[in-house]
Amino acid sequence: MASFSTNCVCLPSSSYGPNSPNPKFAEQADKEGWPAARFLTAIAEHELAERDRRRIERHLVEAHLLPGKTLDTFEFEAVPMISRAQIMAITAGDAWLEKGANLLLFGPPGGGKSHLASAIGLALIENGWRVLFTRTTDLVQKLQVARRELGLEAAIDRLDRFHLLILDDLAYVTKDQAETSVLFELISARYERRSMLITANQPFGEWGKVFPDPAMTLAAVDRLVHHASIFEMNVESYRRREAIERKRGPGRPASYATPANIAAD
Ligand code: ADP
Ligand code: MG
Repeated sequence: MASFSTNCVCLPSSSYGPNSPNPKFAEQADKEGWPAARFLTAIAEHELAERDRRRIERHLVEAHLLPGKTLDTFEFEAVPMISRAQIMAITAGDAWLEKGANLLLFGPPGGGKSHLASAIGLALIENGWRVLFTRTTDLVQKLQVARRELGLEAAIDRLDRFHLLILDDLAYVTKDQAETSVLFELISARYERRSMLITANQPFGEWGKVFPDPAMTLAAVDRLVHHASIFEMNVESYRRREAIERKRGPGRPASYATPANIAAD
């Protein structure tokens, strides 16, 4: 935090800029007869809160999260194998991000993996961490370009600024992408230093096609699972369930009284 010397009071830049909070504070201070120290504290606190807000805003822009996917809109009842409390603990971040541990979400399409991954990313950003959400194939493509331009190491280093890298749909990496091993190099570089959250339809069985050879697949899986929490979201597609429920509609009203419908009236 900035320290204020006694003989030079340096007001933070936003206190006298075009959106200056000064008039508001000054007016209130005048009206209520604030001592100078209280006035300056109010400005400093406002400035710090503004800086935090702007930082989080920047981190949100760089994260490329899925729009509208939050923990509030995630129905935990639909995935009984995951509790809200577990996920809330994960969103604090410090217990796992500081040691570069990983999170793996497996399950069939439509089960909420991408939604949950993005929502965890959002909560982590709100808690001060830096996150990047990307489809795995997009990132692999970028890293391949970097490798061709002899800049793979630098590109992987640049990703270090993200405490968490969310790789969505690992299994969708294509055969020609797999042959370059850039994904393996990324996983090795982040091992025990920086965290990854990976979503995939298949747990490990299908990963042979994501890496160039079986030895590399084994080495990659080994590094990923060494410090990892694994969630198997083996649930029916949320979209399909919703569609079925819509089709069923509210249903025929009960034709006779039951304890349940009496209580509901
Ligand atoms: P996956 O990545 O596992 O294929 P998605 O996260 O893309 O699944 O989910 C498909 C759709 O269903 C998305 O619109 C998502 O927001 C919604 N959805 C899935 N699971 C849930 C849930 N438990 N609560 C609320 N919405 C969900
Ligand atoms: Mg998905």
